[in-house]
Amino acid sequence: MPDRTFLDWPFFEKTHRDLARTVDDWASGNVHAIMSSTDDLDERCIRLAAAMGQAGICAHAVVAPYGGNTDILDVRSLCIIRETLARHDGLADFAFAMQGLGTGPISLFGSDETKARFLPPVASGKSLAAFALTEPVAGSDAAAISLSAVPDGKDYILNGEKTWISNGGIAGHYVVFARTGEAPGAKGLSAFVVPADTLGFEIVERIDVIAPHPLARLRLTDCRVPAADMLGKPGDGFKIAMATLDVFRSTVGAAALGLARRAHDEALDHTASRMIGEDRLADLQMPQAMIADMATAIDAAALLIYRAAWTKDQGAPRISREASMAKMFATEEAQKIIDMAVQLHGGEGVRSGNKVEELYRDIRALRIYEGATEVQKIVIARQAEDARQAQRQGGGK
Ligand SMILES: Cc1cc2nc3c(=O)[nH]c(=O)nc-3n(C[C@H](O)[C@H](O)[C@H](O)COP(=O)(O)OP(=O)(O)OC[C@H]3O[C@@H](n4cnc5c(N)ncnc54)[C@H](O)[C@@H]3O)c2cc1C
Repeated sequence: MPDRTFLDWPFFEKTHRDLARTVDDWASGNVHAIMSSTDDLDERCIRLAAAMGQAGICAHAVVAPYGGNTDILDVRSLCIIRETLARHDGLADFAFAMQGLGTGPISLFGSDETKARFLPPVASGKSLAAFALTEPVAGSDAAAISLSAVPDGKDYILNGEKTWISNGGIAGHYVVFARTGEAPGAKGLSAFVVPADTLGFEIVERIDVIAPHPLARLRLTDCRVPAADMLGKPGDGFKIAMATLDVFRSTVGAAALGLARRAHDEALDHTASRMIGEDRLADLQMPQAMIADMATAIDAAALLIYRAAWTKDQGAPRISREASMAKMFATEEAQKIIDMAVQLHGGEGVRSGNKVEELYRDIRALRIYEGATEVQKIVIARQAEDARQAQRQGGGK
């Protein structure tokens, strides 16, 4: 039985506690059946999103009144859902997460018309969403984006490539970040919503990874997109990407937390039944120390994640420092926790199909995407330096 005591922490309201139970019950009753219903990866994601749409879970990924429940995205709800789904299954978490990340810029910056067009089908799980920021030579350095958008009458013409795009090939729309050139670097980017059926839009490569989920390289050739489908103003693209990541980074930490909790549960079950000579593994001090380290890191990660989520939900305009700390700590610690769980399983831990072997593959990419750990460290250090300067200017020591 997973530890639920964290739900009594003062970060949460009754709606969050109810949500945790609802999503847990839904995942227990549905995820395995959906995963077993087909071997096709794309089809699994489509069915997971559709079922979560029907169950009202995807509604939490978008704002009201466009299929969502709240006027602004509730980060604690996003985190609780991701944590709970990830504890059951990494792909279920992925399917939900993309409904949020691929619409986040629209929820945050879209016009009423854009929201009305793109959000309801994602909330109902009928359409899948994608967020296309990364390019072959613009990963960690998003300011280096080169995919171009040139004005042409009431439209923009988009040309260039995006890569590592989750839901690539199955999404109904892509939020594409492009260079419109108002200024060099980060200040010359804009964001557009590009429907998958736009002429000139194509999937040029599918990318296989260690924990399979749909990923693709996209090419846009003379793609004509109405200026009305730009989010915000020309030059707002980088701001939109960063504001979206500000909301979703702590949810990546929450997904890592769910994977870590599952690893801890698997380790507890295994050590309770595995005999080493006369002793249960659970009665030996070294395994006990590992279990204790895992439990402590899990609670520390949860505190950072829900501190960040609560702070945002209280109305903080930006939570870059809190979100970066939560994402970095939770993903790095989850990797160590899962590794300990594999170790405690011995040979069984690396047997293909064992849950801890799956978790070992599931966790790895979370330390890279939405800002690698090293990038989070840069954000945290810059914020510390800014705080020092502000304190000095304010007359503090
Ligand atoms: C499974 C998966 C799903 C993804 N989904 C999406 C998606 O849906 N949409 C999207 O737009 N992108 C997506 N990405 C791309 C992801 O965001 C990038 O992989 C990530 O930003 C890193 O960029 P990169 O791969 O080009 O690595 P690089 O930028 O080449 O960085 C390589 C490594 O260098 C180090 N590094 C980078 N910059 C610095 C620095 N300034 N100082 C010190 N060290 C540094 C880090 O360790 C980093 O991991 C996904 C990636 C993966 C693996």
